[in-house]
Amino acid sequence: MNGSNFIKTDFMGTINDLLNRLHGLKNDLEKSSHVTGTINANADGMIEHECFSTECSAKFYVHTEDWKNICRDEEVFCPICSKGEEAKMFTSSTYGNAVRDEFAKGVRERLTGAGTPLQVNGLTFNTPERASNLYSCGTCQARFGTNIPAQVCPSCGVAIS
Ligand SMILES: [Zn+2]
Ligand SMILES: [Zn+2]
Repeated sequence: MNGSNFIKTDFMGTINDLLNRLHGLKNDLEKSSHVTGTINANADGMIEHECFSTECSAKFYVHTEDWKNICRDEEVFCPICSKGEEAKMFTSSTYGNAVRDEFAKGVRERLTGAGTPLQVNGLTFNTPERASNLYSCGTCQARFGTNIPAQVCPSCGVAIS
């Protein structure tokens, strides 16, 4: 050795190992096309929803019973901007982000540690306790909450006085 203070090393073995692990992950993810979980209501019995409109994106809360029994799948209204859309368009990113975080954790473990399969099915998510304004609609009786004053009822769209 003539004074050089570095060595060149080939990491192709590591790369091939990562490629094998990624291939296994891809198989796991393809099997996870229907990931289901449970969302727990907050102390008010409500779960969080989020306006589909990117200009608004307001978070709001609806009582789980009223979301199932009073709100219609075909149309729900954002209580803040009053735009209407199908109920499924109001899924809050809070829960989606929690699923993504669990995936990311599983992927990291899978790439660095043991080859345990990704397990993201059957997770339980908690709803933030944040509705500072609580309402009960005088027209349809739906119970809901917002953090800034509501304009309309998310279920029937009637203006909140
Ligand atoms: Zn909105
Ligand atoms: Zn209403």
